[in-house]
Amino acid sequence: MRNVYLDHAATTYTNKEVLKEMIPFFSEFYGNPSSLHTYGREVKKHIDIARNKVARAIGALPEEIYFTAGGSESDNWAIKGITYANVSKGKHIITTKIEHHAALYTCESLEKEGFSVTYLPVDEYGMININELKDAITDETILISIMYANNEIGTVQPIEKIANIAKEKKIYFHTDAVQAIGNIKINVKEQNIDSLSLSAHKFYGPKGIGALYIRKGVKIKNLIHGGGQEKGKRAGTENVPGIIGLGKAIERATENIDENNNKILKLRNKLVKGIMDGIPYTILTGHPEKRLPGSASFCFKYIEGEALLLNLDLKGIAGSSGSACTSGSLDPSHVLLSIGLPHEIAHGSLRLTIGEINTEEDIEYVLEVLPGIVEKLREMSPLYDDVKGGN
Ligand SMILES: *Cc1c(COP(=O)(O)O)cnc(C)c1O
Repeated sequence: MRNVYLDHAATTYTNKEVLKEMIPFFSEFYGNPSSLHTYGREVKKHIDIARNKVARAIGALPEEIYFTAGGSESDNWAIKGITYANVSKGKHIITTKIEHHAALYTCESLEKEGFSVTYLPVDEYGMININELKDAITDETILISIMYANNEIGTVQPIEKIANIAKEKKIYFHTDAVQAIGNIKINVKEQNIDSLSLSAHKFYGPKGIGALYIRKGVKIKNLIHGGGQEKGKRAGTENVPGIIGLGKAIERATENIDENNNKILKLRNKLVKGIMDGIPYTILTGHPEKRLPGSASFCFKYIEGEALLLNLDLKGIAGSSGSACTSGSLDPSHVLLSIGLPHEIAHGSLRLTIGEINTEEDIEYVLEVLPGIVEKLREMSPLYDDVKGGN
């Protein structure tokens, strides 16, 4: 038996070098960065260095980076903040049906406040249609918010095209890039992105720290009021160790992007091929090519994803079914339903997301164990009996 972690889209461990840089900021350099004394100034200096690293990683200016408590806060802030600040221009937002709940539920809450939201559909691969986006734009549209890459099925959207349309129509464009950072090269200037969310724990940094890039000139209201931190835009004493960790993690993730992607892509292709060839009645979910390198997601007909996860866990393999936030609920994921899968097939979903620590042996172990588990679970399904009996 091996322990194989294949749930890197849910979270990653904190890399050792990242952790090492964070440690002194707990009890050695503990000053409040807002303080004028040496304790404070020293810490402030390191926050600025980290801010520079985040900016450089995405092609932004340091003064366009605001630290937050993670991806959820960044999405909430961007969507609510831009909407509230631009209400005089209109009350319409465009997003997609497959956003992470941090963005989706924020839009739903704005709907309850009287804003109107268009949720664009996606095709069977999870891709939006550019013409449908164009058609959805009205004189009232103030914000387009579309995720860069999907956390459940890995599909990567045509971000440049979307951003260019938004720019042409003078509509703000926000993207949730939480899954994309460290996997895809991003340059917010070249790509005309107005705001972008990122979160450290998805790229080997600590949990509870993220950032929102806000292009200079974008009108946005505060989400968190209080002290004057983050140039008066996001109150609260800074999560200093987190910020230091985020800086180091994003530097690592973006410096080694090609090397990491090549390695991970090889493992992903081996895993996908092994599963598709070795297990009948299986659907690969998400786009076959335009997807995150580490993302492998499937639906196995005639089984329940929950049972599959538990059986895999008994063999030391950690995966997920749908999104980590929704497991524990019995509704199939909104993403799988949006790509047109019927409920009974969506229930048999499995997401395996490969990360830096995974090896060929890990993949071989999964390919050795998974077909037997799927077969065993199918043997218990009356539906599968019918298929096998040729009815
Ligand atoms: C994980 C994730 C989030 C939420 O980020 P947190 O830092 O956990 O709040 C938002 N969007 C996407 C696409 C994610 O994968």
